[in-house]
Amino acid sequence: MERIHVSVRARPLSVEDAQSSPWRISGNSIFIPNHYSKFEFDRIFDEKCGTRQVYEARTRDIVAAAVQGFNGTVFAYGQTNSGKTHTMRGSAAELGVIPLSVQDLFETIQKESDREFLLRMSYMEIYNEEINDLLAPEHRKLQIHENPERGIFVAGLREEIVVSPEQVLDLMEFGEAHRHIGETNMNLHSSRSHTIFRMIIESRDRTGDDEAGTICDAIRVSVLNLVDLAGSERAAKTGAEGIRLKEGSHINKSLMTLGTVIKKLSEGAESQGGHVPYRDSKLTRILQPALGGNSNTAIICNITLAQVHADETKSSLQFASRAI
Ligand code: ADP
Ligand code: MG
Repeated sequence: MERIHVSVRARPLSVEDAQSSPWRISGNSIFIPNHYSKFEFDRIFDEKCGTRQVYEARTRDIVAAAVQGFNGTVFAYGQTNSGKTHTMRGSAAELGVIPLSVQDLFETIQKESDREFLLRMSYMEIYNEEINDLLAPEHRKLQIHENPERGIFVAGLREEIVVSPEQVLDLMEFGEAHRHIGETNMNLHSSRSHTIFRMIIESRDRTGDDEAGTICDAIRVSVLNLVDLAGSERAAKTGAEGIRLKEGSHINKSLMTLGTVIKKLSEGAESQGGHVPYRDSKLTRILQPALGGNSNTAIICNITLAQVHADETKSSLQFASRAI
């Protein structure tokens, strides 16, 4: 499969948005007639498509590849209120990409009778370039380290061994409930932080046990990251000052770095020995092992088709089209 898959998901118009939209979707292209040139993507999901369809377009393959030992990362990108969290975490009405992936993951490993699996999960947020552990709320401002045994890792991040999809979802709920913020600021906070849900998949060959010397070779470890990014709206536009401005500039910088990293990767810079600026943001540094090399990446660009947000939607589509 191609390494970077870019899809667009349009959310249903809300009641506040007048029920008309300037955008037209035709196959895999989206445009405003007589206005903007067409944007083309691998897939475009209109308001009527469900999350399962979005999941099946690419994430399902990335989960399957992760079981086979290939790292994978799926991002939800878009302005606040465009449906990133609805897509990734889901709601009472519709399962999100995260629970669908977790279900698939457990079902897939049960069928792999030749291998024995150990699954762990972690859940973290990056807020103002600080890494907080959502599974261990007392672990704040964690640091990124690198060493020969572990590669790049977040020091002190809790990794919980998990044995069922229900346990994973319970841990996520715990993480959500223990964010260090007041309930009323929940939406504000989540629109300003990146959330990384991670499954670490370790397996060993059951059949190789009796052949001396093969056991080490038979251990595979891969990582699956499902990322709900901070809102992409620009700080300048919202007239931010003080703390909001600082948050905004951190968000802009990390999203800009993410855009550059993905563009470099899609151009093949890494395999040609070119520079990929992973170190320019915590987000890209943490995800580095699951973006470069043999990893699989998907971007789900969440948009609204409402007239009032046309400029913001255009800038999201521009971001996403850089990755193709
Ligand atoms: P974001 O995380 O990008 O800020 P949310 O996922 O919180 O946006 O979505 C904003 C609101 O719109 C929520 O109330 C959510 O339930 C609703 N919503 C978003 N996408 C959809 C969709 N595809 N179908 C139904 N409701 C949606
Ligand atoms: Mg959200």
